[in-house]
Amino acid sequence: MSAARETIDFPAAGVGLLGLPLDCFSSYRRGAARAPAVIRKLLCGGMSHWTTESGLNLKGHPRWRDLGDLPLSADDSAIETIGHTARRAVAAQTALLGMGGDHAVTYPLAAAWAERFPRLTLLHFDAHPDLYDRFGGSPFSHACPFARLLESYSQVRLVQVGVRAFNRHQREQAERFGVETIEMRHWPPAEMPIFEGPLYISIDLDVFDPAYAPGVSHHEPGGLTPRQCLDLLQGVTVPVVGADIVELNPSRDPSGITAALAAKLVKEVAGLMLTTTPAQPEQWERLQ
Ligand code: MN
Ligand code: MN
Repeated sequence: MSAARETIDFPAAGVGLLGLPLDCFSSYRRGAARAPAVIRKLLCGGMSHWTTESGLNLKGHPRWRDLGDLPLSADDSAIETIGHTARRAVAAQTALLGMGGDHAVTYPLAAAWAERFPRLTLLHFDAHPDLYDRFGGSPFSHACPFARLLESYSQVRLVQVGVRAFNRHQREQAERFGVETIEMRHWPPAEMPIFEGPLYISIDLDVFDPAYAPGVSHHEPGGLTPRQCLDLLQGVTVPVVGADIVELNPSRDPSGITAALAAKLVKEVAGLMLTTTPAQPEQWERLQ
């Protein structure tokens, strides 16, 4: 138990940015634990301003708060720590934007919202389906978060975008859980999914083609452009109650281009959360 997590001041009916410096659930390379510090340095370092493409200025916005980094142990207790903090955010009616860290953070973050909204939709951008039942002996590996979510919350709808690394086990898992997948080999899709809120958005930066985002642990060519992802995000109108941006690995990103993309996504997703979620606590009560 860390004392710090009990003192987080969640903004009611607001959006909170929470850094999650964790990479012990990465199966291949470590490094993602340094991502929150690198992204925050870019966001606060004068590279860009705080205004989204649609014109919303986060700087000084009364509903926007940087909550800092959550202290995490590099073991299974981190899953419980993140889950505890996410449940506190849900209780405070704070839309939480998690900044990873590896993809293991998504299970405890999204689970807190699935408990509040049983018919939650997950919009998941990733080269990989992350549906392994176990990976490397761990149920919490960054290759497993969506299997954990769907086995625990049967009414949750999962829409995956950008997948291009299926194998037989994960295809079976996708069928078993009724996952809707927009594979890269079928891009552009004949029709985009229609969302009915509330929505949780998870962006694994390896969904982008490594030409645009080399700073990830797993290079999988043939991915999305940043513009294609932004276009899809900017079409979302349902309440985005939670989100995460994960898998930046600064040790693979010498030019900083992937960190710049991550920082832009933090800004754009935060703006999306602010414009789609209610500004009053009593309106949050009515969400379902
Ligand atoms: Mn991935
Ligand atoms: Mn992933």
